[in-house]
Amino acid sequence: MNEQKNFSGGLGALPLAVLRQTRDAIEVLPETGLSVLGMSHRSSWFRAVLDEAEQNLRTLLGIPRHYHVLFMQGGSSLQFSMLPMNFLRGTKQRAEYIVSGYWSAKAPPEARHEGQVGIVWDGYDGGYTRLPHAGELPLSRNAAYLHYVSNETVEGLEFTDVPGLPDVPLVCDMSSNLLAGPVDVERYALIYAHAQKNLGPSGVTVVILRDDFARRARGSLPTMLKFGRRARRSLPTMLDYRTHIDSRSLYNTPPVFAIYVLMLVTRWLRDEIGGVAAMAETNGAKARAVYGALDAYPGFYRVHAARPNRSTMNVAFRLPDAVTEALFLDAAKRDGFHGLEGHRSIGGLRASLYNAVTPEAAASLAQWLTGFAQRYG
Ligand SMILES: *Cc1c(COP(=O)(O)O)cnc(C)c1O
Repeated sequence: MNEQKNFSGGLGALPLAVLRQTRDAIEVLPETGLSVLGMSHRSSWFRAVLDEAEQNLRTLLGIPRHYHVLFMQGGSSLQFSMLPMNFLRGTKQRAEYIVSGYWSAKAPPEARHEGQVGIVWDGYDGGYTRLPHAGELPLSRNAAYLHYVSNETVEGLEFTDVPGLPDVPLVCDMSSNLLAGPVDVERYALIYAHAQKNLGPSGVTVVILRDDFARRARGSLPTMLKFGRRARRSLPTMLDYRTHIDSRSLYNTPPVFAIYVLMLVTRWLRDEIGGVAAMAETNGAKARAVYGALDAYPGFYRVHAARPNRSTMNVAFRLPDAVTEALFLDAAKRDGFHGLEGHRSIGGLRASLYNAVTPEAAASLAQWLTGFAQRYG
């Protein structure tokens, strides 16, 4: 099946077992006798799906009880705006951002609509080929929050250490590596990740939000006492995190289908893979196989990321020239390898090795890369 050799950066591949269950559920759900596409979001069936999705995420990631788990819409791009609307607007603090690639560069302009923004590190001049180390970040102790992207999907850069200061709320966009391995959730005030790279189909975004941070949101009582009238002007209902906390992600019609498939993916990860630590081991082996094949031909393949910052999820690389890259993509497609073109912003090539990409698929890509280099290198 082609799906087995889907290396697309997004939407990402989904596990074959999940695709099969989804196919059946579109026709008829055994539990209800109806199609998943026609199920009411107010049904007890869907309440159970939401509860299991949340519970599985809590178990897989060890999310403590003082964190909320929300299922939202608008993708990660809406989080770029909601975050500063809720936590920067009306304050005199500044929000700090690490700009380490295409996606993290999209967040600060949204925050500038809401208040003061500080860029504590910017990798643009270096072509986003490496990540900062802790000593390079001039962080301030009274920032409203620090925002970063744990895995730069386009450039293939992944943080191994968690940046930040203990007292500053840490916010992370984990859209392309949530559930790829363990996360120390308690280091974070807010984590968000849309589903379509590693968690499920597009249409739903997971937000993991610490309760005491949520209480600090604008419009909340402590913010009003501290910052007065300006902070009291309320947010649009849909853009206020507390709406989704209070309604347990059922304020309006949620993306039932996407949440259902996400729930199946979490179940697969729990039962078939055995959790995120096991997943991380497999992902590490997949990445070693593919980088190994590229590193064996250093004059031919050139990996975008500096070695210590290489992502296990997205392997971005180049060939000596555009003609060979076009030849590469054609040959790959002919042999059944899909989604290997680089992001439109930087071009080149990219192999994404999300959770659902099997070790066999990664091994067969590695072998194919070797063959291509032997032929054209
Ligand atoms: C793909 C991606 C996004 C964009 O998400 P949308 O859901 O399309 O808004 C944001 N952040 C990261 C890290 C991504 O990989």
